[in-house]
Amino acid sequence: MFSAAALPGRGRLIVLIGGILLLGFLTTNLISFRVSTAALKATILQNELPLTSSNIYSEIQTDLLRPIFVSSLMSNDTFVKDWLIGGEQNPAQITRYLDEIRAKYDVFTAFLISDATKQYHHFSGPTKVVRVGEPNDDWFFRVREMTQPYEVNIDFNAAQGMEITIFINYRVLDYQGRFIGATGVGLKLDTVARILSHYKSNYQRGIYFVAGDGQVTVRSEGAVIQEDNIKTAPGISAIANDILSKTDGYFEYVRDSEIMLLTSRLIPDLGWRVIVEQRESEALSALWRSFVTNLAIGIGIILLTIGTIAYAINLYQKRLEDMAVTDKLTGVGNRQLFDIALDQALKLRRRVPLPLSVLLIDIDRFKSINDTRGHLRGDEVIRAVAMTLNERVREADLFARWGGEEFILLANNCRLEDATELAETLREAVASAPVLKPDDGLRVTVSCGVAECADDDDAETLIGRADRALYRAKDEGRNRVQAEYA
Ligand code: GH3
Ligand code: MG
Ligand code: MG
Repeated sequence: MFSAAALPGRGRLIVLIGGILLLGFLTTNLISFRVSTAALKATILQNELPLTSSNIYSEIQTDLLRPIFVSSLMSNDTFVKDWLIGGEQNPAQITRYLDEIRAKYDVFTAFLISDATKQYHHFSGPTKVVRVGEPNDDWFFRVREMTQPYEVNIDFNAAQGMEITIFINYRVLDYQGRFIGATGVGLKLDTVARILSHYKSNYQRGIYFVAGDGQVTVRSEGAVIQEDNIKTAPGISAIANDILSKTDGYFEYVRDSEIMLLTSRLIPDLGWRVIVEQRESEALSALWRSFVTNLAIGIGIILLTIGTIAYAINLYQKRLEDMAVTDKLTGVGNRQLFDIALDQALKLRRRVPLPLSVLLIDIDRFKSINDTRGHLRGDEVIRAVAMTLNERVREADLFARWGGEEFILLANNCRLEDATELAETLREAVASAPVLKPDDGLRVTVSCGVAECADDDDAETLIGRADRALYRAKDEGRNRVQAEYA
């Protein structure tokens, strides 16, 4: 059947709207992703990683506090001083003292070395004499020359994993401030192991303890840097000197084309730095996931919107098309629709010579209906006649309002005899339609002119013949059908 030409650019309009929505959505999403990425990165570098290293720092400092305090007590103990100054009589006394310290403060050793005799007193008794040149005794001669009151000496056994033994070596001075010996305690610092296992399970962060020379003394499981020294490890080597020259700071480096974020903090008592590091990609992965989710939801909504718009456009276009070819008063096809349909039928007939007829139908004495009952009633009559006629029209035919109170029917595959018969049926239907005969005595009839299309016909000649036939029908008294042969 016939359809009005589609509005041009409908597809392009939908693509344009979709494009604008998509572009706007992508732009805002990308901008917000970039802003939140930068903000999160700053938060991680300036807050989260430093917070972790601060926590580690204070945990270790807290654990060192007690042994340092105990060692300080020992070095200031008048009993210890007097015993040394008094010529180290009765070593059993000092042995008992050291053993009590050990037991009371839960350390694994307590010791005292006399500078005068170089005798090493242990919690279980005098053991040996420290000597210059003996590597195990170096620490004593170092403490002897030290200006600060104590040192924390880390004995780190790599083979033992993360367990660290530390010695607090405190200088003992006589009442004139002269060095007379060294005392202190030794203990296992399991804080580091505890910290590492805690942080390993909580975050995807690498934690390292790095000595002053860059040596990685302890690292958490799965840490990125597996090399012995940060000065030689790929990536971080470029910033190693920077890290080792500052007490704390945050840094970035690239290793295996991955950006690593790290903070470093010096633990002065250990002389070590705690380094906390995180892969940037891992830090931002949650953001990335939410970006992708937003994108998926947004695209879904855009597709829905486009679908709705397309539906609405199609709906309105259909309405416009209908309006363009529909007669407002009666709802049947209008003259424009008929013209197009007839044009198509005539073209088709040239290729497939099927019979084709036209029926022109005019309401009889309509002017008097208008004049006596008014225009509104006239309109009603036009509508009622249109309905009555339209109900009896075959699907293959095209019925339209020709104008005023005239209708036209294009009867496809219909010879003049059949068309005349059809016209007679229609005329009879109007004449006997009950709705057209209300109580006010109004009687509505139609006259009809019929013509069949001849080979040399065009629209004008064909309708002209039907018009002449109609004129004859009117002439012969109305409420009748006339046919005109070609
Ligand atoms: P006949 O066809 O039998 O010769 O007589 P008639 O009275 O029908 O004559 P004619 O066809 O000349 O008059 C048609 C009238 O229909 C003229 C016009 O005022 C009226 N008319 C045309 N369109 C409409 C319409 O949409 N509504 C109403 N109410 N009247 C209309
Ligand atoms: Mg008329
Ligand atoms: Mg008329």
